[in-house]
Amino acid sequence: MNKIDGNLARSILTPVAGSPGTDDAGADVLFLGPENVVDDPLVSALRDRALNVRTLNRTDGIAAVTDSVGAVVIDHSNGKIDGIETLDLVRRNYTDEQVPVILVRTGIGVEDCAEALSHGANDVVDRAGALALAVQRIDDHVATGRLRRQLKKSQDRLTLAIEGSNDGIWDWDIGTGTLQLSYRWYEILGIRNGRDAVDPDYWLDRIHEDERNTVLTDLRASLDGLSDRFSSEHRIRHENGTYRWVHVHAAVARNADGEAIGIAGSMTDITDRKAIDRLTGLPNRGPLSARIDRTLGRIRRHPGAAAALYAINIDGIGMINEGYGEAVGNMVLKTIAGRLTSTLRPTDVVASFGGDVFGVFLDRIDDPSDSLRVGKRIQEVISETIECEGRTINLTSGIGIVVSTDRHVSGSDMISEAFTALKRAKKSGKGNISLFDEKMEMSAARRLDIERELRTGIDNGDIVLAYQPIFNLNTGELTGFESLARWLHPERGMVSPGEFIPVAEESGLIVPMTTRLIEVAAERAAVWNETYANGRPFFLSVNLSAQNLETPQLIKETQDAFDRFGAPLSCLKIEVTESQMMKDFDGGRRRLEEFREAGVNIAIDDFGTGYSSLSYLTQLPFDMLKIDRSFIMDADLSAEKQKILHAIAALGQSLDMAIVGEGVERIGEHEIIKSLNMEACQGFFYGKPALPDDLDPLLSAWGIDMDALC
Ligand code: C2E
Ligand code: CA
Ligand code: CA
Repeated sequence: MNKIDGNLARSILTPVAGSPGTDDAGADVLFLGPENVVDDPLVSALRDRALNVRTLNRTDGIAAVTDSVGAVVIDHSNGKIDGIETLDLVRRNYTDEQVPVILVRTGIGVEDCAEALSHGANDVVDRAGALALAVQRIDDHVATGRLRRQLKKSQDRLTLAIEGSNDGIWDWDIGTGTLQLSYRWYEILGIRNGRDAVDPDYWLDRIHEDERNTVLTDLRASLDGLSDRFSSEHRIRHENGTYRWVHVHAAVARNADGEAIGIAGSMTDITDRKAIDRLTGLPNRGPLSARIDRTLGRIRRHPGAAAALYAINIDGIGMINEGYGEAVGNMVLKTIAGRLTSTLRPTDVVASFGGDVFGVFLDRIDDPSDSLRVGKRIQEVISETIECEGRTINLTSGIGIVVSTDRHVSGSDMISEAFTALKRAKKSGKGNISLFDEKMEMSAARRLDIERELRTGIDNGDIVLAYQPIFNLNTGELTGFESLARWLHPERGMVSPGEFIPVAEESGLIVPMTTRLIEVAAERAAVWNETYANGRPFFLSVNLSAQNLETPQLIKETQDAFDRFGAPLSCLKIEVTESQMMKDFDGGRRRLEEFREAGVNIAIDDFGTGYSSLSYLTQLPFDMLKIDRSFIMDADLSAEKQKILHAIAALGQSLDMAIVGEGVERIGEHEIIKSLNMEACQGFFYGKPALPDDLDPLLSAWGIDMDALC
């Protein structure tokens, strides 16, 4: 038992009127002697210490013992009462923790002491010793006992308060590595037979994996001393497999060296608060995620069905809050919530991800290509003028879309991909839509690594061009090459553009990279022109990204490079896609016209995958239209595809554009595009992209019948 200074303890526990310490039953000391003791020096000395001492004979004394007595002193100095027997009578009802008992006699041997202690005495005091020492020891027992009882009482009160409250309580003892959880803690999670102490992983493993790392990092930071408080909102698994949102609040206990010895706190179920966005009244992430879970389950049972999720960010709410005040900003968000809800079908879900980000979940889409059309429609609804407090507000929005696939197991999978796509949409400016594709999934750290290496790779000339031949379908002659970027990575070997072009675009490295590749193409055009072409016209096409169209100096750089190597600019063709043009149609068109004026030819790439709009096509100076591989693939087996190819070919011819069928892999596909009078063809069937040295045989044979190569 720890030694407690009696005076200090008493000062902490100064009895208040009516408290147990002042009534008879709660006397500080019950002094049991052979008869009512008068003028006993020990009793007087105890009273001098301001202790409330009640002297009683043995029988009355035993009857008067309660657990509010400070201590019982059994005086068997004169041998008239049996000290051990009296002690046993007290111990029959009260433990040494509940009621301290001190035996007093004159002259005590070691055996007496041992016997008394073995019967549950808290102390043995010899009257023959110094009186002051005896008084001090009794006083200490009274103070310690009181303190312990007080503690127990407040613990009981705390337990009652805890169990009565809505919060679950947890207490993690770092030393023993055990976690104690209250009944209510288990109850929140639907656990019936909770155990008294569990391993901390019992808790941590139940935390939703999306939040677990953050919880662990924050917990670690609190334990390591960054903060004595720990607070977190996260999801935790219920016994029925669903997740509850909880708020956890805790305090860290430390030893004198500042090391954490424990952490304890509460856990509050906040699922209901989390379920509804207070401002808009829309369901938020939790119910949305649960709803997606259910739909994914249905889709798995009915293959072929699909759903789509939209993460929608309203641009400029921050500016509205700042300029017009938050009340206007809130009104705007509520208006948008209302519009989205009334636009969609009752089976669709409009949700709030908080603040200016909304979610729309289409429970069923018939054709994944519809998802973009709906995205455009959502943008239109949002952009309709909002009149608010005499102000006219027009808004744009960025949208990330994900269409359900087999790889989506849960709602949170789709939500996280929709956000990845939204991030991508916002990167390329306001008012954009981006459809998630798996290439986006690279982790941020990996992306940074690639970006760093790519920067060096561009400087070192490790980004090179492979060339894939394109043949004239009528004459069988080689007519040009598409140049395709390859990264000759010092350790990884040849890296495909699918891996590094998105990183180059996101980091802006695409601009210096394209400048460099155009130089490479210029040099290659000069060499082949001189060595093989023998006066025959041919082209080298280079792929451009949207950012290249925003860079005015690219044209001048291109002219300089071709001049420097002595190659005609008419050899160069640039390939752009419709969706790149859509980012900034007018700016892009201006740039294309400048290229055209400089003598460069222009191809529209991946035709059929974007808006495929005739009116756009007629406004842009294309001389070649490349039909996307998805229309060529298995075209010989699909009457539908043949119809589409026929229509595109007719369209191109009417606009005086050369039509190229891309990605021909089989003779059946080759025969179809030939029968449709397409002008040119490209694909593994005729030749894969290759580095220049590997192309020498093909170039030497220039002019031979293409069919002989097949
Ligand atoms: P793209 O412009 O549509 O290029 C055609 C892609 O289809 C190339 O993939 C090519 O190797 C592949 N291909 C050609 N014929 C066949 C075939 O018969 N079957 C199959 N399965 N595939 C075929 P690659 O080289 O991996 O390029 C992928 C994409 O990367 C390109 O698609 C283009 O969008 C981009 N890219 C490549 N080089 C550059 C570049 O220098 N600059 C920019 N901005 N983008 C580039
Ligand atoms: Ca291309
Ligand atoms: Ca293409």
